[in-house]
Amino acid sequence: MRSGPVGESKEVAARSRRGRPGFRRAAWVALGLGLILSLAACGDASNANVGDASGAAGSGTIAKPAPRRVQLVWPTPNPAYAAGATPEAYVQPTESGLLESGLFGSVRSGGRQFHEGLDLFPIERDKAGEALDPVFAALAGVVRHVSANAGASSYGRYIVLEHPDETPAVYTLYAHLASVESGMGPGVKVAAGATLGKMGRSAGGYTIPKSRAHLHFEVGLRMTDSFSAWYARRGFGSPNPHGLYNGMNLMGVDPLLMYALERAGKLERMDALFEALPIGLTLRIAHAGEPDFIRRYPSLRARDGAAEGLGGGWEIDVSGTGVPVRWKRLSADEVAGWKRDEVRIVATHAEVLAANRARDLVDKKRGVDVPGEDLQTVLQQVFGLR
Ligand SMILES: [Zn+2]
Repeated sequence: MRSGPVGESKEVAARSRRGRPGFRRAAWVALGLGLILSLAACGDASNANVGDASGAAGSGTIAKPAPRRVQLVWPTPNPAYAAGATPEAYVQPTESGLLESGLFGSVRSGGRQFHEGLDLFPIERDKAGEALDPVFAALAGVVRHVSANAGASSYGRYIVLEHPDETPAVYTLYAHLASVESGMGPGVKVAAGATLGKMGRSAGGYTIPKSRAHLHFEVGLRMTDSFSAWYARRGFGSPNPHGLYNGMNLMGVDPLLMYALERAGKLERMDALFEALPIGLTLRIAHAGEPDFIRRYPSLRARDGAAEGLGGGWEIDVSGTGVPVRWKRLSADEVAGWKRDEVRIVATHAEVLAANRARDLVDKKRGVDVPGEDLQTVLQQVFGLR
């Protein structure tokens, strides 16, 4: 889901209600404790040496720290996923009632509408039927954006975290909140599992009925530091109250894939999530500069030996939903004779593109593959193309 252009936001400090039933709290504490214990056992790569050195005093050896694995917290109190249940036990479908409509991808309106996150239903409601579940940070991170004005985005009230300890430093997003936990604001550090707010059904421009209150949860990458320039050029005709954390600058990937990789022990680093994404196309672009996107996420760049800042262009593998996930430098020779910022699609994967038909990535023009509307947007944002 994308937060569309909306009016000026008036920040309203929202208070969340604390407390939840004892059994659930106990379960959560137990889970949290387990997490803390396993973190303590693993150590963090950045401070492991300090801990090991003191711990090993007198023994003469320094234990090698175990590799740091990404450790995720489920963003709601629903224990179903952790218990191995199928998505029926946690996914909130749209009015269609089709389970897939609450999943990530081209899952709505017969596959023609893209859903950029995972919708999770509550397991606790008050007497009036409103959701009561707290919403938790999936990973330790830093609050980058709190939009407390429900009407200022199709996300309703939402929070964006960035996760600088991860590689790449993904964002996570928590939308349709009923309220935001007090103390949440840009720059605030949160632990994995910290309460961010309360699940709800806030939404700007439309109504989510009580029966379908849910958390819209996203994980992904931020496209550009120059979002305001792109937003102005597109001429939406309304201010952007969300700065860099407007949904149009955030590109989600499948949250369930992330959790599945973690469960399978394959999420050594967050990179594994992006390596696992099906590739829809490969393009080449005659753009010599280094976009802030690839400086922000350098692990997505192949170790090609090219010196920083040198090169004539890029070759990029784009996921089936439009995320530029693998970058390789091209020499000036490889784009010799190309127009500045010329884009050529050099490979397509028809079955991946077909599975993501709500995303218009490749069109045919006189028999030649050219960027479709959604890929054009990505190129505009990342490379500043007009
Ligand atoms: Zn959603």
